[in-house]
Formats: sequence, C-alpha cells, structure tokens
Amino acid sequence: MERGRYQPPAGSVMTRADAVVDPDRASKVYGVVLLVMAALIYPVVDGVYNYANETPAVLEELRALADRPREATMSRPLIVMLLDGLRTDEVATMPSLVALKNESLQFVMKVDPPTVSRPAYHAFFTGVPSAASGVVTNRYLGGPRADTLANRVREAGGEVVFIAEGLDWMPSMFASAGDRAVSSDDALNEPLDEALATLSPTSFVMIHVVSIDQRGHDDGLDSAARRGARGDADDVVARVMRSAPDDALIVAFADHGHVAAGGHGGSEPEVDHVFAYLHGAGADGAPLGGEVNRTVSLVELAPTIASILSLPPPRMAVVPPVIEVAPRSRSSLQAERFRRAHHDTLVARLDRVKRARLFQFVTAFLCFALLGTTKRCFGFSWATLSFVFAMGLGAVGHLFVFRRPLSFSSIDYLYLHIPRLVGLGALCTLAATLPWRDLARRRQAAAICSFASLTALLMTLATIAWTVRPWPIDDFLAYAPMLFGGYAMGSCVAGALCLWALVDGRPGTE
Ligand SMILES: [Zn+2]
Repeated sequence: MERGRYQPPAGSVMTRADAVVDPDRASKVYGVVLLVMAALIYPVVDGVYNYANETPAVLEELRALADRPREATMSRPLIVMLLDGLRTDEVATMPSLVALKNESLQFVMKVDPPTVSRPAYHAFFTGVPSAASGVVTNRYLGGPRADTLANRVREAGGEVVFIAEGLDWMPSMFASAGDRAVSSDDALNEPLDEALATLSPTSFVMIHVVSIDQRGHDDGLDSAARRGARGDADDVVARVMRSAPDDALIVAFADHGHVAAGGHGGSEPEVDHVFAYLHGAGADGAPLGGEVNRTVSLVELAPTIASILSLPPPRMAVVPPVIEVAPRSRSSLQAERFRRAHHDTLVARLDRVKRARLFQFVTAFLCFALLGTTKRCFGFSWATLSFVFAMGLGAVGHLFVFRRPLSFSSIDYLYLHIPRLVGLGALCTLAATLPWRDLARRRQAAAICSFASLTALLMTLATIAWTVRPWPIDDFLAYAPMLFGGYAMGSCVAGALCLWALVDGRPGTE
C-alpha cells in the first residue's frame, strides 16, 4: 500500500474488491456458473420469443375505429391460391402460373418482418400489419385478432372453404363453424376437385399449397424436390384455371420467399418481396391486367380483393384498396387508421418504457459486474479480444459449412438452427482459447474463454433488454435473442470445459 492512501477496513467490500483471486479456484467456480447459465439461457430466450406476440395497445384503438357493418351481397366466386414460400424468380419455371400472370393484374408486395407464415396469413386475412396486430411469430396459436376477409364473405351470405395441403395452420386460425375445411396430405387432389366442382357464386375457396415451402426448407431451392413441388403447384394452378367459371376472381400470391439454401424470416429482398396476381373482371366489369408500378404492402391485398367483389374490406384494415383498382374508394376513416397504426405504435407507451429502462439498467449492471469480476480473477490482455475474430470466422464458417448466411432466414422450421448455433458458439470459444494452452499461459487462456462465454451471454441479455422497448417489434427483436442465446449456450459449455481443463494446481503463470 502507498503511504498516505486511505486504508479501507479489513473485510469491507472495498478490500474484497481489491483481493486477487486464485485463478484455479476462480476457474472451478466460473465453470459451474457458465454451465448454470447455459442451462438457463435458452428457456429465457424462448420465453421472449413467445412474449413477442403480446397484444399491442394500438389494436384496441383500431378496434374502436373499425368500420360499421354494411349490407353486401356476393355475386361471383373467389378463389385464392397461397403458394407458400414461392420466390418470384421461380414463377418463370411454372408455365400455368406464367399464363395466369400474363392475364392478370400484377403487384409486387412487401411483407413485414419477421417474414414467417402465421404473421403473413394474419396480415393477409385482416389487412392489419403485424406491428399493429401483435402477431409476429409462428408461435401465435390464437384466432384472428381483427375482422377478416372470410368474415366479409360469410356476412354477405357466402360459403368459405379451406383446402390446405398437410398443414392446418390456416384453417385453425381462420375457419369458423359452418365453413368447410380440409387439411390433409392429399387435400390438393380429390378435395380440391370437389371444391372446384361445387363452386357457387358465393364461394370463397382458400387453397394453401404448402409443399413448395417444406421442400425449400429441406433441400434448398435448387433441388429436385423443390422442382417437383413447383411442378405439383403448377398443376394446381392449371386445374383451378380449367375448372373455375369465367366470372371467378382468381388470386395467386406468396407469403414470403426463400434464401437460396432454403429458409426465410429475414429481410433479404428475395424473401420479403413477393408477387400477387389478380385474374378476372374488375369491379367495373373490365378484365384486370397490367402492373401496379410501385411496391404495395401485403395488407393492401384483402381490401383490394373485397373492393373488386364489391364487398366491404375487413373492418379494421388499415389501408384502402390498391388505388389503381378502386380509384374512388379511399375513405378518410381508413386513412386515419393508417396513420394510427403506423404512427401510434411508434409513440412511447409509458409502462413499457419504464420496464425497459429497469431491464436495461439491470443488464448494464450485470455487464460491469461479470466483466469486472472476470478481470479480477484472470486479468486482462489484448489477447482477450481474440474471440471477436473467432466470432467473425464463425459467421464465415456458417456460410460455407451450412451454405447459408448467418441471418434470420437461417432460423429453421425443424429447429436445426439450434444445434447449428450451439456448435458455432462452442467452436468459436474453443478456437479462441485452445492455442493459449500450449503457450503455458493458463491465466491468459482462462481470461479468454471466460470473456468469450460471458460476452456471448451478455450480448444475449442485451438483445433481450432491447425487446422491451416502446416501438414495434421487428425481425431483429423477434429473432436476435434466439440467435445469440443458442450461440451463448454453446459458448458457455465450451468455456466451462476449457476452464476445468486449465485447472492443474500449478501456480498461474503470467
Ligand atoms: Zn417456411
């Protein structure tokens, strides 16, 4: 101790904070802490992912502004084909779809992030964007949170039929008592033919082609399986075009695209820009055709379809029909809803801000406490930052080993992303730590692996803290905790093993 300096009393927090910890003892304790954290972190990020679907306050405001019921009748059938996950550049490989496209009104639609199925179905049926409905992940298992296109058909005396290929998500979310719903692997064979044969002028047939998406996830886009699925989907388009009566309105669209290796969820242009083709006569009786030369939003599709059929739009739809189709239908109420949905969700909701501040404070405190304690146990050198390079290498490795960029589109419906991320975290931590073992610099190696694991853990906590913010959740907030959490889990396990391997009873060398 230097002369004249303040001497804290023995046993006080300050003397403890100055005490040097034996690296061997610290390694053992840190190993245990990291394993406990590895076990806890994934359930926490999983909970955040579920919490992402909470109902936003703006939904109540939209409900208060909903259109009043209006009398309407339906006079011609509506057939909607959702080609799940079909990328726009793949349309050229499907001759029947190309034929449909050439005789249709065409849009390019932007899908809100995260670009996954249930939020997209909900946005299509209700005309309410995910940020305003709060339906933002595939974990959402409830019914519609707003009035739907199907409700408009039912109230006009129509019949709603769901034909879903091997996946019941769409009928389970949107079918009501009295609808016909078939969801089975062979739904696109006889059940589809039967639905087309029994069409009436008040039918709404919703056809959901699922296998294109599944083959994309399983095998990537450039695969025989995906080509086969596209061929089968094209056959569905051909049968619909052959059987539909002349006055039917036929709509084909996709809910999201795919990255080349298979996968969606992120905001890559090939994933979040999709096509919509509307075939038949417009509201004025003239055939629809041409292109809308701006990017519209997915939530504009249902009001546009309703407008063509002279039905009222879904009652909480935030935007008017695409103006090129229905030039006189912009209502001031819809314009007001649009402003509220897009503006008010951005305005701070005070209770949430308070929670966010608390959580962010706790996270910042944990960052300082954990990193400060680590420095005291193992010291610090610039080598501690080597894990940053290891993480960069990990991202490049992910691209080459798994043939997909480390983006939100690498999140997989088979949950394969979890082992991939755990492996990535473990490998990066080992890669950063192991070389130092040979140099007999145990203390530095321990510093590196504990810094690497704790930093991964803290990045996860920081992204969770970000999710409790006032503005709407986006794909980053819905997914980043999962990506970081998986990485942190692998990193913590590898870090614990490295720390225990470094314990050899010899005094630490510096
Ligand atoms: Zn998918």
